[in-house]
Amino acid sequence: MANPVAQAGREARQRHGWWRSNRFLILRRSSQLLILLMFLSGPLWGTWILRGNYSASLLLETIPLTDPLMMLESLLAGHWPAWLVWVGAAVVLVYGLIGNRVFCGWVCPLNPVADLAAWLRRKLGLRQSASLPRSLRYGILIAVLVGSVVSGTLLWEWVNPVALMGRGLIHGTGEGALGWLKGLVAAFGAGIWLIVALFLFDLLVVEHGWCGHLCPVGALYGVIGSQGVVQISAERRENCTRCMDCLHVCPEPQILREPLLLQKGTPRVANETCIACGRCIDVCAENVFEIKTKFHYSGAKK
Ligand code: SF4
Ligand code: SF4
Repeated sequence: MANPVAQAGREARQRHGWWRSNRFLILRRSSQLLILLMFLSGPLWGTWILRGNYSASLLLETIPLTDPLMMLESLLAGHWPAWLVWVGAAVVLVYGLIGNRVFCGWVCPLNPVADLAAWLRRKLGLRQSASLPRSLRYGILIAVLVGSVVSGTLLWEWVNPVALMGRGLIHGTGEGALGWLKGLVAAFGAGIWLIVALFLFDLLVVEHGWCGHLCPVGALYGVIGSQGVVQISAERRENCTRCMDCLHVCPEPQILREPLLLQKGTPRVANETCIACGRCIDVCAENVFEIKTKFHYSGAKK
Protein backbone atom coordinates (compact mmCIF):
# COMPACT_ATOMS: atom_id res chain seq x y z
CA MET A 1 0.00 0.00 0.00
CA ALA A 2 1.19 3.53 -0.75
CA ASN A 3 2.86 5.42 2.12
CA PRO A 4 1.75 8.99 2.91
CA VAL A 5 3.71 11.47 0.80
CA ALA A 6 5.01 13.37 3.85
CA GLN A 7 6.59 10.14 5.14
CA ALA A 8 8.48 9.21 1.98
CA GLY A 9 11.78 7.61 2.97
CA ARG A 10 10.80 6.85 6.57
CA GLU A 11 10.66 3.10 6.07
CA ALA A 12 14.11 3.12 4.46
CA ARG A 13 15.47 5.21 7.37
CA GLN A 14 14.05 2.80 9.91
CA ARG A 15 15.34 -0.23 8.09
CA HIS A 16 18.71 0.93 6.77
CA GLY A 17 19.64 3.87 9.00
CA TRP A 18 19.99 7.60 8.33
CA TRP A 19 23.23 7.63 6.30
CA ARG A 20 22.26 4.85 3.94
CA SER A 21 18.82 6.37 3.27
CA ASN A 22 20.32 9.81 2.55
CA ARG A 23 23.67 8.98 1.03
CA PHE A 24 23.06 10.25 -2.49
CA LEU A 25 21.41 13.38 -1.17
CA ILE A 26 24.45 14.12 1.02
CA LEU A 27 26.87 13.36 -1.81
CA ARG A 28 24.96 15.66 -4.16
CA ARG A 29 24.89 18.52 -1.68
CA SER A 30 28.61 17.99 -1.10
CA SER A 31 29.24 18.10 -4.84
CA GLN A 32 27.19 21.30 -5.26
CA LEU A 33 28.95 22.94 -2.32
CA LEU A 34 32.39 21.82 -3.43
CA ILE A 35 31.89 23.32 -6.89
CA LEU A 36 30.71 26.58 -5.35
CA LEU A 37 33.77 26.62 -3.06
CA MET A 38 36.00 25.99 -6.08
CA PHE A 39 34.55 29.15 -7.64
CA LEU A 40 35.03 31.03 -4.37
CA SER A 41 38.58 29.81 -3.79
CA GLY A 42 40.07 32.79 -5.66
CA PRO A 43 38.25 35.65 -3.94
CA LEU A 44 38.28 33.97 -0.52
CA TRP A 45 41.71 32.32 -0.39
CA GLY A 46 43.65 33.81 -3.31
CA THR A 47 43.96 30.54 -5.28
CA TRP A 48 41.68 30.05 -8.25
CA ILE A 49 40.51 26.47 -8.61
CA LEU A 50 37.61 27.49 -10.84
CA ARG A 51 37.64 30.98 -12.35
CA GLY A 52 34.47 32.30 -13.97
CA ASN A 53 30.88 31.24 -13.46
CA TYR A 54 28.41 28.44 -14.26
CA SER A 55 28.19 29.54 -17.92
CA ALA A 56 31.92 29.67 -18.68
CA SER A 57 34.86 28.89 -16.44
CA LEU A 58 38.48 27.83 -16.32
CA LEU A 59 39.53 24.90 -14.14
CA LEU A 60 42.98 25.30 -12.57
CA GLU A 61 43.69 28.13 -15.05
CA THR A 62 43.93 25.44 -17.74
CA ILE A 63 40.79 23.49 -18.63
CA PRO A 64 37.91 25.55 -20.06
CA LEU A 65 34.28 24.62 -19.38
CA THR A 66 31.45 26.16 -21.42
CA ASP A 67 27.68 25.94 -21.05
CA PRO A 68 26.61 24.43 -24.39
CA LEU A 69 23.40 26.49 -24.45
CA MET A 70 25.35 29.73 -24.16
CA MET A 71 27.67 28.62 -26.93
CA LEU A 72 24.77 27.66 -29.20
CA GLU A 73 23.11 31.02 -28.56
CA SER A 74 26.36 32.78 -29.38
CA LEU A 75 26.75 30.90 -32.67
CA LEU A 76 23.14 31.51 -33.68
CA ALA A 77 23.39 35.18 -32.76
CA GLY A 78 26.24 35.44 -35.27
CA HIS A 79 29.15 35.69 -32.81
CA TRP A 80 31.90 33.20 -33.58
CA PRO A 81 33.15 31.93 -30.19
CA ALA A 82 36.86 31.98 -29.31
CA TRP A 83 38.70 28.66 -29.58
CA LEU A 84 38.79 28.33 -25.79
CA VAL A 85 34.98 28.40 -25.75
CA TRP A 86 34.90 25.57 -28.32
CA VAL A 87 37.31 23.50 -26.23
CA GLY A 88 35.18 24.23 -23.15
CA ALA A 89 32.05 23.01 -24.94
CA ALA A 90 33.88 19.87 -26.07
CA VAL A 91 34.90 19.18 -22.47
CA VAL A 92 31.28 19.57 -21.37
CA LEU A 93 30.18 17.21 -24.15
CA VAL A 94 32.32 14.57 -22.45
CA TYR A 95 29.83 15.00 -19.64
CA GLY A 96 27.36 13.42 -22.07
CA LEU A 97 29.33 10.22 -21.69
CA ILE A 98 28.39 10.19 -18.01
CA GLY A 99 24.73 10.54 -18.69
CA ASN A 100 21.44 12.35 -18.62
CA ARG A 101 21.09 15.52 -16.57
CA VAL A 102 23.95 14.96 -14.14
CA PHE A 103 24.50 18.73 -14.25
CA CYS A 104 21.02 19.30 -12.82
CA GLY A 105 21.39 16.85 -9.96
CA TRP A 106 25.02 17.39 -9.01
CA VAL A 107 26.15 20.85 -10.15
CA CYS A 108 23.35 23.38 -10.75
CA PRO A 109 23.03 25.94 -7.91
CA LEU A 110 19.25 26.08 -8.40
CA ASN A 111 18.79 22.40 -7.61
CA PRO A 112 18.76 22.92 -3.80
CA VAL A 113 16.10 25.63 -4.26
CA ALA A 114 13.94 23.27 -6.34
CA ASP A 115 14.51 20.44 -3.85
CA LEU A 116 13.55 22.67 -0.93
CA ALA A 117 10.26 23.60 -2.63
CA ALA A 118 9.53 19.92 -3.38
CA TRP A 119 10.38 18.91 0.21
CA LEU A 120 8.13 21.63 1.63
CA ARG A 121 5.36 20.58 -0.72
CA ARG A 122 5.55 17.04 0.63
CA LYS A 123 5.70 18.14 4.26
CA LEU A 124 2.80 20.59 3.89
CA GLY A 125 0.74 18.11 1.90
CA LEU A 126 0.46 20.47 -1.09
CA ARG A 127 -0.33 17.95 -3.77
CA GLN A 128 -2.74 20.04 -5.85
CA SER A 129 -0.90 21.34 -8.84
CA ALA A 130 -1.60 23.17 -12.05
CA SER A 131 -0.58 21.04 -15.00
CA LEU A 132 1.90 21.97 -17.66
CA PRO A 133 3.25 19.62 -20.34
CA ARG A 134 6.79 18.51 -19.54
CA SER A 135 7.64 18.90 -23.21
CA LEU A 136 7.23 22.66 -22.78
CA ARG A 137 10.93 22.93 -21.83
CA TYR A 138 11.92 21.71 -25.30
CA GLY A 139 9.61 24.35 -26.84
CA ILE A 140 11.31 27.00 -24.67
CA LEU A 141 14.72 25.66 -25.71
CA ILE A 142 13.80 26.03 -29.40
CA ALA A 143 12.30 29.49 -28.76
CA VAL A 144 15.55 30.58 -27.04
CA LEU A 145 17.62 29.39 -29.99
CA VAL A 146 15.33 30.96 -32.60
CA GLY A 147 15.18 34.12 -30.48
CA SER A 148 18.97 34.35 -30.52
CA VAL A 149 18.97 34.22 -34.34
CA VAL A 150 16.29 36.89 -34.61
CA SER A 151 17.64 39.23 -31.91
CA GLY A 152 21.34 38.70 -32.62
CA THR A 153 21.91 38.47 -28.85
CA LEU A 154 22.45 35.73 -26.27
CA LEU A 155 18.77 36.06 -25.45
CA TRP A 156 18.49 33.59 -22.58
CA GLU A 157 21.49 34.99 -20.73
CA TRP A 158 19.49 38.11 -19.81
CA VAL A 159 17.16 36.07 -17.61
CA ASN A 160 18.89 32.70 -17.12
CA PRO A 161 18.22 31.95 -13.44
CA VAL A 162 20.95 29.27 -13.35
CA ALA A 163 23.58 31.85 -14.34
CA LEU A 164 21.94 34.49 -12.19
CA MET A 165 22.01 32.32 -9.08
CA GLY A 166 25.62 31.34 -9.78
CA ARG A 167 26.66 34.97 -10.36
CA GLY A 168 24.97 36.04 -7.13
CA LEU A 169 26.71 33.34 -5.10
CA ILE A 170 30.11 33.74 -6.70
CA HIS A 171 30.40 37.48 -7.15
CA GLY A 172 28.80 38.23 -3.83
CA THR A 173 32.20 37.82 -2.27
CA GLY A 174 33.42 40.68 -0.12
CA GLU A 175 35.89 40.89 2.76
CA GLY A 176 34.99 38.65 5.68
CA ALA A 177 31.67 36.96 6.33
CA LEU A 178 29.74 40.23 6.64
CA GLY A 179 31.28 41.56 3.44
CA TRP A 180 30.35 38.33 1.70
CA LEU A 181 26.75 38.66 2.87
CA LYS A 182 26.58 42.31 1.79
CA GLY A 183 28.16 41.44 -1.54
CA LEU A 184 25.74 38.57 -1.95
CA VAL A 185 22.74 40.86 -1.54
CA ALA A 186 24.26 43.41 -3.93
CA ALA A 187 25.23 40.83 -6.55
CA PHE A 188 21.82 39.21 -6.59
CA GLY A 189 20.15 42.62 -6.80
CA ALA A 190 16.68 42.43 -8.29
CA GLY A 191 17.48 38.93 -9.56
CA ILE A 192 16.81 37.48 -6.12
CA TRP A 193 13.12 38.04 -6.82
CA LEU A 194 13.33 35.78 -9.86
CA ILE A 195 14.76 33.00 -7.68
CA VAL A 196 12.06 33.62 -5.05
CA ALA A 197 9.40 33.57 -7.79
CA LEU A 198 10.70 30.22 -9.10
CA PHE A 199 10.67 28.80 -5.58
CA LEU A 200 7.07 29.94 -5.02
CA PHE A 201 6.08 28.68 -8.47
CA ASP A 202 7.43 25.22 -7.58
CA LEU A 203 5.90 25.33 -4.10
CA LEU A 204 2.46 26.69 -4.84
CA VAL A 205 1.67 26.36 -8.53
CA VAL A 206 3.32 23.45 -10.38
CA GLU A 207 5.12 20.55 -8.73
CA HIS A 208 8.75 20.51 -9.96
CA GLY A 209 7.58 23.43 -12.10
CA TRP A 210 10.84 25.05 -13.14
CA CYS A 211 13.28 22.16 -13.56
CA GLY A 212 10.65 19.63 -14.63
CA HIS A 213 8.72 21.74 -17.11
CA LEU A 214 10.47 24.95 -18.13
CA CYS A 215 14.27 25.12 -17.83
CA PRO A 216 15.92 25.01 -21.28
CA VAL A 217 19.37 24.48 -19.72
CA GLY A 218 18.21 21.21 -18.16
CA ALA A 219 16.43 20.28 -21.40
CA LEU A 220 19.63 20.66 -23.43
CA TYR A 221 21.71 18.74 -20.89
CA GLY A 222 19.11 15.96 -21.11
CA VAL A 223 19.47 15.84 -24.90
CA ILE A 224 23.28 15.81 -24.65
CA GLY A 225 23.34 13.13 -21.97
CA SER A 226 20.62 10.91 -23.40
CA GLN A 227 23.14 8.37 -24.64
CA GLY A 228 25.22 8.52 -21.47
CA VAL A 229 26.74 5.55 -19.75
CA VAL A 230 25.26 5.87 -16.26
CA GLN A 231 21.66 4.77 -15.81
CA ILE A 232 19.36 4.09 -12.88
CA SER A 233 17.83 0.64 -12.96
CA ALA A 234 14.86 -0.86 -11.08
CA GLU A 235 17.03 -3.93 -10.89
CA ARG A 236 15.00 -5.80 -8.28
CA ARG A 237 11.60 -4.50 -9.29
CA GLU A 238 9.96 -7.77 -8.33
CA ASN A 239 10.60 -6.71 -4.69
CA CYS A 240 8.56 -3.50 -5.10
CA THR A 241 5.76 -3.23 -2.50
CA ARG A 242 4.09 -0.24 -4.23
CA CYS A 243 4.85 2.01 -1.24
CA MET A 244 5.38 4.79 -3.85
CA ASP A 245 8.18 6.46 -1.85
CA CYS A 246 10.40 6.66 -4.94
CA LEU A 247 7.61 8.28 -6.96
CA HIS A 248 6.95 10.74 -4.14
CA VAL A 249 10.56 11.99 -4.16
CA CYS A 250 11.52 11.65 -7.85
CA PRO A 251 11.54 15.03 -9.62
CA GLU A 252 10.48 13.24 -12.82
CA PRO A 253 8.14 10.52 -11.47
CA GLN A 254 6.60 9.76 -14.87
CA ILE A 255 9.84 8.03 -15.89
CA LEU A 256 9.42 5.33 -13.22
CA ARG A 257 6.02 4.23 -14.47
CA GLU A 258 7.04 1.72 -17.12
CA PRO A 259 10.14 0.10 -15.61
CA LEU A 260 8.78 -0.06 -12.09
CA LEU A 261 4.99 0.07 -11.97
CA LEU A 262 4.18 -1.63 -15.27
CA GLN A 263 7.29 -3.84 -14.99
CA LYS A 264 7.48 -3.74 -18.77
CA GLY A 265 10.62 -4.20 -20.85
CA THR A 266 14.01 -3.29 -19.46
CA PRO A 267 14.27 -2.35 -15.76
CA ARG A 268 16.48 0.63 -16.59
CA VAL A 269 15.08 4.11 -16.22
CA ALA A 270 16.18 4.92 -19.73
CA ASN A 271 14.98 8.44 -19.98
CA GLU A 272 16.87 11.63 -20.69
CA THR A 273 14.89 13.51 -18.06
CA CYS A 274 16.34 11.51 -15.14
CA ILE A 275 18.70 13.83 -13.24
CA ALA A 276 20.66 10.89 -11.80
CA CYS A 277 20.03 12.21 -8.30
CA GLY A 278 19.89 8.74 -6.78
CA ARG A 279 17.08 9.76 -4.45
CA CYS A 280 15.00 6.75 -5.57
CA ILE A 281 17.87 4.53 -4.38
CA ASP A 282 18.03 6.37 -1.04
CA VAL A 283 14.36 6.10 -0.11
CA CYS A 284 13.61 2.56 -1.27
CA ALA A 285 13.41 0.25 1.74
CA GLU A 286 13.36 -2.78 -0.58
CA ASN A 287 16.62 -1.90 -2.37
CA VAL A 288 14.89 -2.04 -5.73
CA PHE A 289 17.13 0.51 -7.47
CA GLU A 290 20.78 0.45 -8.49
CA ILE A 291 23.14 2.51 -10.60
CA LYS A 292 24.23 0.57 -13.66
CA THR A 293 26.10 1.32 -16.83
CA LYS A 294 24.36 0.92 -20.14
CA PHE A 295 26.87 -1.84 -20.98
CA HIS A 296 25.25 -3.93 -18.27
CA TYR A 297 22.19 -4.18 -20.52
CA SER A 298 24.10 -5.17 -23.61
CA GLY A 299 24.58 -8.53 -21.90
CA ALA A 300 21.93 -11.03 -20.89
CA LYS A 301 19.99 -8.77 -18.51
CA LYS A 302 17.77 -6.66 -20.77
S1 SF4 B 1 16.57 22.05 -14.84
FE1 SF4 B 1 17.72 23.96 -15.03
S2 SF4 B 1 17.54 24.99 -13.08
FE2 SF4 B 1 16.86 22.87 -12.79
S3 SF4 B 1 18.64 21.84 -12.06
FE3 SF4 B 1 18.64 21.59 -14.29
S4 SF4 B 1 19.82 23.32 -15.09
FE4 SF4 B 1 19.36 23.76 -12.96
S1 SF4 C 1 14.61 8.08 -11.40
FE1 SF4 C 1 15.75 8.22 -9.47
S2 SF4 C 1 17.71 9.12 -10.08
FE2 SF4 C 1 16.29 9.53 -11.77
S3 SF4 C 1 15.42 11.54 -11.29
FE3 SF4 C 1 14.03 10.01 -10.39
S4 SF4 C 1 14.73 9.81 -8.26
FE4 SF4 C 1 16.38 10.82 -9.40
